This record gives sequence, structure tokens and C-alpha cells, in this order.
Amino acid sequence: MKRAFKCRCCGACCRIKDGIVRVSDAEIARIAAFLGMAESDFIERETELAPDRKSLMLKSRLDGSCAYLAADNFCCINPVKPDKCRTFPFEWTNPDSARICPGLR
Ligand code: SF4
Ligand code: SF4
Repeated sequence: MKRAFKCRCCGACCRIKDGIVRVSDAEIARIAAFLGMAESDFIERETELAPDRKSLMLKSRLDGSCAYLAADNFCCINPVKPDKCRTFPFEWTNPDSARICPGLR
């Protein structure tokens, strides 16, 4: 019998090497407001162009983890995090989700 999903708060989904967290205009606006930043400053300092050049995405650290992942695996922008993060691993998922996310095993 399949167990009910329970997030283990492990942060693995925020440490996916070469992971891409795209941000829409609306997401940029709400994250910038949450951080008390002008949208233009947020875009310049906190985002970069996605590899396909079709959108902006959140910057990652050199180890591949999201810049907003805290040491305790807490998301520093949790109340306003992008929809992709909010809906993982159900509405938004990928072929590696079962391997990445212990909550699905
Ligand atoms: S924005 Fe938050 S939930 Fe999304 S990848 Fe970064 S740390 Fe994880
Ligand atoms: S990988 Fe799964 S269990 Fe770990 S924090 Fe992300 S959603 Fe939760």
C-alpha cells in the first residue's frame, strides 16, 4: 500500500544540481516585496537568465543549492516561494522526483 506523502524537510529538492527555478513576473514581484527590495534590484542581484534564455531563474550557489536554502533546510522565502517549489512533488514534478524526494518513497 502506498504511504501518504510527508515532506521530510530534507531540502533535497532545493539542492538539485543544475536545477532550474524559473520565476515569472508575478513571482518576482511578490518575492521582491517580501524581501523589501525593488524589483529591478531583485532581478539584477538574485536572478539570472535560464539556459534556454526564455525566462529568469533564481540564482544557485556553487554547490548547486538554491541561494534561498538555509542551513536548517528552511526556505528563506517560504511564504512567497515560486509556484514550482510550492507544488513539488505533485503538480510540478520531473522524472527524477522519486529518486530525489524521500517523501515519495
Ligand atoms: S526558493 Fe525555497 S523552496 Fe524553492 S528551491 Fe529555493 S530554497 Fe527551495
Ligand atoms: S525532497 Fe521531498 S521530502 Fe525533501 S524537502 Fe523536498 S519535498 Fe520535502
